[in-house]
Amino acid sequence: MNNKAETPVTVIGLGLMGQALAGALLEAGHPTIVWNRTVSKAERLVARGARLASSVGEALGAGALVIVCVADYRAMREVVGANDVEGVVLVNLTSGDSGEAREAARWAEGRGARYLDGAIMAVPPAIGTAEAVLLHCGSRSDFEAHEATLGVLGTVVYLGEDHGLASLYDGAGLVMMWSVLNAWLQGTAMLRTAGVDAVTYAPFARQIALVVAEWLPGYAEQVDAGSFPAEVSALETDVRAMAHLIEESEAVGVNAELPKLIKAMADRSIAAGHGAEQYPVLIEEFGKP
Ligand code: NAP
Repeated sequence: MNNKAETPVTVIGLGLMGQALAGALLEAGHPTIVWNRTVSKAERLVARGARLASSVGEALGAGALVIVCVADYRAMREVVGANDVEGVVLVNLTSGDSGEAREAARWAEGRGARYLDGAIMAVPPAIGTAEAVLLHCGSRSDFEAHEATLGVLGTVVYLGEDHGLASLYDGAGLVMMWSVLNAWLQGTAMLRTAGVDAVTYAPFARQIALVVAEWLPGYAEQVDAGSFPAEVSALETDVRAMAHLIEESEAVGVNAELPKLIKAMADRSIAAGHGAEQYPVLIEEFGKP
């Protein structure tokens, strides 16, 4: 495994995230070569010891590992463009969807590069700490060869050979995040109508989120088995509470869109004959186009 601090690493794209990535590599002692379309964004990194490449081609050739982190996949292809990438280990940490990632892998590998796709589950200030989770997929041997170097950026996770996996996990993580936050905001909006402020409600909301998180492994077994016996509650019982939630939201004058969305999916599942089964049976609704 190539984990020597003297391993040179190139970072292409010095937006907020790219600057944090290059900064963490410098901090760990790696010779760091940087390139950005807007050259001025390299100034602080150069002052800290980074070397500014004069062209993308030079940047691609300078690192044993080339990390690309630009706005989107289109920008990644524009930047790397017509340059020679034969033998280059490209680690694309640009956000996108799984189709773009698989297409980028075909594009890069078709031109002789070794391509790892990645997704960053962190904000720039967390980069370089264990709190920053960086997901990777592609060739296992290429990942393992550079795992320790990538490890200076945060907690690195290898997901598998399919180049779409990091983007899919990224999306799966984001939907967890936004769903929990939306649910918390719904509860906050309701309680504020009774003079309960957000800070007072937050510990209760946190406790509920933790309890629900504990259900996931058991529910996941039901999903994988395709069998949903109502061990603790049937969907038709849940749906009555969903109706109350809609009524309560409307009665106290807050937005009822989220409760209505929740109930609409459960109603469809009940109409399909699943009322006596347990909540994870809704996977059948979520799995539809
Ligand atoms: P940003 O600050 O807006 O930086 C965007 C970068 O992309 C800049 O280096 C920009 O170059 C470059 N770029 C855009 N279009 C380009 C083009 N056509 N040709 C060349 N370069 C181009 O964004 P960021 O926060 O660094 O995010 C970068 C990636 O990390 C995104 O995919 C984002 O989703 C992902 N990410 C960010 C965060 C976060 O919290 N910031 C968290 C997770 C993942 P110029 O400087 O020349 O404009």
